[in-house]
Amino acid sequence: MQTTVVNKFLLISIDCWRYDALSRTNPLFNTPKFDLLTQDFSLAEKFFVAAPATRPSHTSYFTGLYPFEHGVYGQTYLKMFEGIPNLFQIFDDAGYHITGRSERPEVFRFLDFEKFITPLDPSAHAQHLGSLEDVIQNLTQPSETPQFCFLHFWYTHGGYGMSGIPGAPSLKTLVDRGSTDEALRFYYAAVTHILEFKLVELLKQLRLSEWAVFIFGDHGEGICEEIIAHGDTLNQNVLHVPLLAHIPGVMNLKFPNPPISAIDLFPTIVNLAGINADYHGYGQNLLVPSESEIDENRLVLSELDSLYGIGFLSRSNLEMPHHRVTSRTTVDNTEISRYAEGVRLWSLTNGEHLYREDEQTGEFVYRHVLCGEDLPCEDPEHFRNAYDDILMNSNYQHLQAQESTAEETEILEGRLRDLGYVE
Ligand SMILES: [Zn+2]
Repeated sequence: MQTTVVNKFLLISIDCWRYDALSRTNPLFNTPKFDLLTQDFSLAEKFFVAAPATRPSHTSYFTGLYPFEHGVYGQTYLKMFEGIPNLFQIFDDAGYHITGRSERPEVFRFLDFEKFITPLDPSAHAQHLGSLEDVIQNLTQPSETPQFCFLHFWYTHGGYGMSGIPGAPSLKTLVDRGSTDEALRFYYAAVTHILEFKLVELLKQLRLSEWAVFIFGDHGEGICEEIIAHGDTLNQNVLHVPLLAHIPGVMNLKFPNPPISAIDLFPTIVNLAGINADYHGYGQNLLVPSESEIDENRLVLSELDSLYGIGFLSRSNLEMPHHRVTSRTTVDNTEISRYAEGVRLWSLTNGEHLYREDEQTGEFVYRHVLCGEDLPCEDPEHFRNAYDDILMNSNYQHLQAQESTAEETEILEGRLRDLGYVE
């Protein structure tokens, strides 16, 4: 099936884009121009993000690794483990013209790929009021120029463009009083704006016969009783997102039947580009769909770690100089504040059902992905064993040794020396 080597890649991330915010999955969605432009794009129906927050999720997209492997366990882990290849660096090294633009570039601060992502409109003060002309000009390179481009839209994030509107309701209030449909109308309107205006204006500028395009959510949005936004628990509305893909020369790309994960894009993209990235993660190349390639019983993992909350990520903290961030969780060698209500959760899904467990309490839920209904779980051990297997068999376990600070390492080495283990 994989016949051509592609040298133009466009990745579009729509923040908080959940599975039902698309006309193909929701007849209420009115996006005729977007639908026409993307009519030959394939929709993955069982696609899940690796984390329910912007920083860890994008890090998984760009590295092909689960959060426990790349080190950004949650939104407020400041850095990745060191030495992990990311798509921007790989394509930059391969001589590609790189474009990375975001409506909220500072959210990627301190991550390895930060330097590749700049404001969508460099001359706009408020990004959602900016123009697309600069990025379009940047995308319009000579045909022979290899290109790797990432665009990140933030307008769909909490607030949904409602701030400043007198009397704008809180979506939580609407959901609490049983008016979830009304809450969804505001959220859907923000997504419609991105799809039907911004993406349409961008996509129609491109010669799509040359471009591999992937459009996805970095996580969804709850807008339900269990969760309104996204970062507090592993909810099906948050983890199940759309993936639309278009590959030049591949008609009717068929996604595999087992569930697929955000970490699958990395091997898919580097393989499509013909680049050897020395990748040993759990991600699967989606363009080798002979059924044997992906285990029919595959379970894909999502992780949430909110032990440091999100309070740290204020504008002023995000602007601090790099040297002050002394480890993944320390600034000036002092651990950042913990969040009293922080949790560590993991979930596994086969695409139809989701098992979620709290790592600290062992409490679990088992539910249907599409309808959200909770079900009795016959065999939690099955999922616990599968989770253990993923942790134990990771080829990136050695990176977790970086967890320890220089000081801790020194203490440990001192102890070992005292015990006679090292010279
Ligand atoms: Zn996000």
